[in-house]
Amino acid sequence: MAEFYKKYNPDRSPEWNYGGAKWKLSRSKIDAFIECPRCFYLDNKLGTKRPGMPSFNLNIAVDALFKKEFDIHRTAGSQHPLCEKYGIDAVPFAHPDLEAWRDPFIGITYRDPETNLLVSGGVDDLWVKPDGTLIVADYKATSKDGTIEGLGDSPWEMQYTRQLGVYRWLLERNGFNVDPTGYLVYANASKDEDVFDDMLTFETTLVPVPTEVDWISGTLHAIKATLESEKLPPVGKACEFCPYREAAGKKIQAVYRAHGNATRI
Ligand code: SF4
Repeated sequence: MAEFYKKYNPDRSPEWNYGGAKWKLSRSKIDAFIECPRCFYLDNKLGTKRPGMPSFNLNIAVDALFKKEFDIHRTAGSQHPLCEKYGIDAVPFAHPDLEAWRDPFIGITYRDPETNLLVSGGVDDLWVKPDGTLIVADYKATSKDGTIEGLGDSPWEMQYTRQLGVYRWLLERNGFNVDPTGYLVYANASKDEDVFDDMLTFETTLVPVPTEVDWISGTLHAIKATLESEKLPPVGKACEFCPYREAAGKKIQAVYRAHGNATRI
């Protein structure tokens, strides 16, 4: 067996595919559908996922430390200094299900009655206002020039807006009042220091994100129709992998035809 099978299984067990007992529609899968319906179909219907990327361990470390920091204030019932600085009258929300909601393998879940799709999303944090309204917050780490005070219109930033929108929608469907404005807790590492000296210097800002939820129902119907169809959906517009895959496949086949040698598997 080829070595790559140890790391990457191109034929996932059907129980994780659409219709299987373990399949659900995570927030990231919704985004994958928006990015490219065909790759979404290959993954969720046919069981072949794109190979993964290495995990961003520095970002994961920042997330873990933010979580600890906000948890201290959750336990104390106190406002985090960042919220105070930005005039947000809210404290970290304490709820018996919070750890499950934060777990990406569980998350907040809701079965949409119109499509029967089980939708899930793992939040980073929730804050609560004095009137009980929840605020969705997500931790982000990056390294960009200047101070991050707002979202731009890059695909990443649009994805963040959808991400917080799905969390809001899930919470609303679970009976909570949710503020339409979510927040990104943004840690921005400076590249302007003289030396590394075992240290990164961050500037942390709160970036408001106006969320929309009106697009979600229509998207769920489109996802359902795609998953129920036997036809391949179209490819996304900005991906380089399909032209690569097609060109590479044609060239490999041409070599096979010409020489009939070299098998990989
Ligand atoms: S365009 Fe990219 S994302 Fe879409 S099917 Fe091809 S490889 Fe996948």
